[in-house]
Amino acid sequence: MTKLAFIGAGNMNGAILSGLVNKGFNPQNIIVANPSAPKREALSEQYGVLHTSSNIEAVAFADYVILGVKPHLIAQVCQEIATETAIENKCFVSVAAGCTIEQIQQALNGQYPVIRVMPNTPSQLGYGVSGLYASIDVSENQKQQTAEFMKSVGIIKWLNTEAEIDHIIAVSGSAPAYFFLFMEAMQNKAIALGFTEQESRELVQQTALGAAQMVINNDLPISQLRKNVTSKGGTTQAALTTLIDGGLEQLVTNAMDSALHRAKEMA
Ligand code: NAP
Repeated sequence: MTKLAFIGAGNMNGAILSGLVNKGFNPQNIIVANPSAPKREALSEQYGVLHTSSNIEAVAFADYVILGVKPHLIAQVCQEIATETAIENKCFVSVAAGCTIEQIQQALNGQYPVIRVMPNTPSQLGYGVSGLYASIDVSENQKQQTAEFMKSVGIIKWLNTEAEIDHIIAVSGSAPAYFFLFMEAMQNKAIALGFTEQESRELVQQTALGAAQMVINNDLPISQLRKNVTSKGGTTQAALTTLIDGGLEQLVTNAMDSALHRAKEMA
């Protein structure tokens, strides 16, 4: 049976781990390592996974090592792993933004199989989007298994080049916050119109959910869905004209370019 070691008991590793266990992966084949106890103990209590303070112990246990520490700690953690335990036949899966496969392999001191995964925060609820890119050292079986792990928290997309990881960051990795900002602005205006904070939140969240469901349940282009709900001379058209004339599309493009630029800077 495949065994997994999660290095770091933070938000992203916690999301992937919970998705796997909720989908039926045996928690006794999962170990989570974190230096401080409370987070790993909480994951162990909630999902029945094993836990340890030692990254080395966790790696020795597993076939797949999910690197879920902050990007600036990845090299240090990989060096520690590579110098203190045997890592032949293990596959490394990194969710860290801005750490390249080359940097990870350098820190591991060898061309071990490395898969970069770029998930987003809705993975915590099973609605994630993950972009995946594998080094040439990764076997077909390791690719398939990693794809299955990530499917437990949402949809996945294999990328053709490592550079596309940065594209995924701009399109889906950072993007939940774009929608939050839009919803926040709508909520603020709803409050100004006299609705309570809670009422405004409910109105906005249900509208966003409904719009997303309409996109999911239709094969029509999104632009057509928009046209279908926009009567000529009506209220929706008045609102959309303001957004379009205000340069919304260009602004969104610029924002995604900024995310892309920052992702490249961080690499
Ligand atoms: P996080 O919640 O801060 O989790 C990081 C965890 O690593 C913490 O529990 C931390 O423990 C632990 N840690 C620190 N040093 C360690 C060490 N030497 N060995 C083992 N564990 C160690 O961060 P996160 O948001 O999950 O992000 C983790 C990674 O996911 C990052 O590289 C990030 O780029 C990537 N990512 C995150 C998101 C997201 O939406 N959150 C999206 C895509 C990618 P302590 O708290 O006890 O120090």
